[in-house]
Amino acid sequence: MLDATPKEIVERKALRINPAKTCQPVGAMYAALGVHNCLPHSHGSQGCCSYHRTVLSRHFKEPAMASSSSFTEGASVFGGGANIKTAVKNIFALYDPDIIAVHTTCLSETIGDDLPTYIREMEIPEGKLVIHANTPSYQGSHITGFASMVKGFINYLSLNSGVPNGNFNIIPGFVGPADMREIKRIFKVMGIPYTMLPDTSGVLDAPNTGKYKMYPKGGTKIEEIVDAGNAALTVALGSYASEMGAKELEKKCKVPFITLKTPIGIDATDELLMSLAKQTGKEIPAELEEERGQLVDLMIDSQQYFQGRKAALVGDPDEMIALSQFIIALGMIPQYVVTGTPGSAFAREITAMMQEAGLEGIVKAEKDFFDVHQWIKNENVDLLISNTYGKFIARAEDIPFVRFGFPVMDRYGHNYNPVVGYKGAMFLLEQMCNAMLDKEDRECAEEDLEVVR
Ligand code: SF4
Repeated sequence: MLDATPKEIVERKALRINPAKTCQPVGAMYAALGVHNCLPHSHGSQGCCSYHRTVLSRHFKEPAMASSSSFTEGASVFGGGANIKTAVKNIFALYDPDIIAVHTTCLSETIGDDLPTYIREMEIPEGKLVIHANTPSYQGSHITGFASMVKGFINYLSLNSGVPNGNFNIIPGFVGPADMREIKRIFKVMGIPYTMLPDTSGVLDAPNTGKYKMYPKGGTKIEEIVDAGNAALTVALGSYASEMGAKELEKKCKVPFITLKTPIGIDATDELLMSLAKQTGKEIPAELEEERGQLVDLMIDSQQYFQGRKAALVGDPDEMIALSQFIIALGMIPQYVVTGTPGSAFAREITAMMQEAGLEGIVKAEKDFFDVHQWIKNENVDLLISNTYGKFIARAEDIPFVRFGFPVMDRYGHNYNPVVGYKGAMFLLEQMCNAMLDKEDRECAEEDLEVVR
């Protein structure tokens, strides 16, 4: 399908072809779904809301509930105040959430809707809440939207009552429910009490009970978000998706924070555990040490298939930073690393890792799949790791392909397997190694088709 992509690279300034990101409200909606009894609300047209819900539903294979201010031409001219006030009244009457989390869209931002004033003027039933985040999509990406919504929850709800709760807050970043479960398991095994915000486990991976529940039982409780202001420390996993909320909590409630990488791969998971051990004075439990030993064993066993091979990585910045480090640890070369999200830390961090390992490659933010395809046309790679949209390049260039990140819309079950922690690294390694071996089995001479690899 992408067979016509030209090899000649022309500098593009104002055009994206096959973007490596989605729009801010998608991330804001995802964050809001990770709060218990919360209904995300898209302040814009129904088309925007449908798109945001569709992307999430196609990835998680679950309904992503959300409402819309249903802008028409009138709202575009006169502002969306009347629409959202009516919407909020109807939503509480019909769908009875505890909290409505409003995010803006390109249209409501462009006409300059003043959400704080609208919220002050609304009729909000006793005991119910409305919060908001500004998420114009002509800036940032779904990652920025996620970060802004987390900040919005903290800004509206978290309080420092002066009574420390001894918990660690975890802001897990834009990762799946299985990753959130795995991060929580690590904290449990370490014996560290925590509050995770947001937490989509039990929401977007809820079991089928035969009965429809608009608000599944998972998600961070409102009282936990309020109490996050009394925590001992916030652990922000991923600077792009999580640091904004951690900074807000520090500013508002004086909760200190540390920012660590998303714990993908061996080094980033080590970094998380060592930091937790340092912060708490606790030993790293044997259970986690054993998992690390298993991962090291697997890395050594499969080393001959990774050493010196080149990979192209496309995805969200926090995940790509940690994944690049894992790729290097496996002996591979991250030849092309791209994110669609803007920000300079991305290239700086990955380039520094590559320089330390004596490697060279192209690392760029705010690029698209078309760029990656053109680079591949000029110098091919042995493995492509990206969301579903990479499959067109993989097919056109016959490259082993691992689906990773967001969105993955053409496979099932991925949202039940974590990619974080040592267990997640084992799962990822298996996928990567097997994708390359599948190609070898498919294309090698008949006499080389080995039973044992
Ligand atoms: S108009 Fe803006 S907010 Fe709406 S779907 Fe498009 S990019 Fe997203």
